[in-house]
Amino acid sequence: MNADQVRQYLEFYRDLGFETVYRRNPAPAPSGRAEPELPGMAPEGDSLARIIEDIGDCQRCRLHQGRTKIVFGSGNERSRLVFVGEGPGADEDVQGLPFVGRAGQLLTQMIENTARKEGIPLLRKDVYICNVVKCRPPENRTPEADEMEICGQFLYRQLNVIRPKAICALGATAVRALLARREGVTKLRGNWLKWNNIPVMPTYHPSYLLRPYNQDAKREAWEDLKKVLHFVYD
Ligand code: URA
Repeated sequence: MNADQVRQYLEFYRDLGFETVYRRNPAPAPSGRAEPELPGMAPEGDSLARIIEDIGDCQRCRLHQGRTKIVFGSGNERSRLVFVGEGPGADEDVQGLPFVGRAGQLLTQMIENTARKEGIPLLRKDVYICNVVKCRPPENRTPEADEMEICGQFLYRQLNVIRPKAICALGATAVRALLARREGVTKLRGNWLKWNNIPVMPTYHPSYLLRPYNQDAKREAWEDLKKVLHFVYD
């Protein structure tokens, strides 16, 4: 593991609330043979196909118990812009695709209407969309720290393979997974931060915007998206 990957791991744990980590000396191998090296965060020459293969029929955390389909991601795999949500809901779980339910329809409208108004020729299929966790949490609850940690390695690999010009983090879970910040979305939104040297724009999750009393948040999310689209496509 190189220094960058170690830093990513440490930042990830700090985001999850761990203040201290301990370095364990490797236990002697019982057979006297050297312990195999643990795989690094991303194998050499990583690709989305390789990540899907590594995820396999994943049973690494409890979320696999209730899932119908793993929701890996969709859209243009060479996109300059990636949206990261929280995790699949009921519709996504059935179809195996991210953001296809009500929140997804709103996200599609936000992307396409904002792009059209700003004179940017961009459709939803031109961007890449994925989530922090790839299996639906029961009752759509927020993913737990260990679930985010386990699935986060695949998200990090996805982002490192695509290496977009910018990432839009939708809601608190995506913000927590990507940014070493303690503040909530309301504080952070509208400002560029960085994940692994890639600019990240935190903004509200579309599900939050669907609530009828969030008109101000809606306007702010549209402002954030405008900023993102001009930064990436101007
Ligand atoms: N909410 C998310 O965060 N992701 C989806 O894919 C759908 C709803």
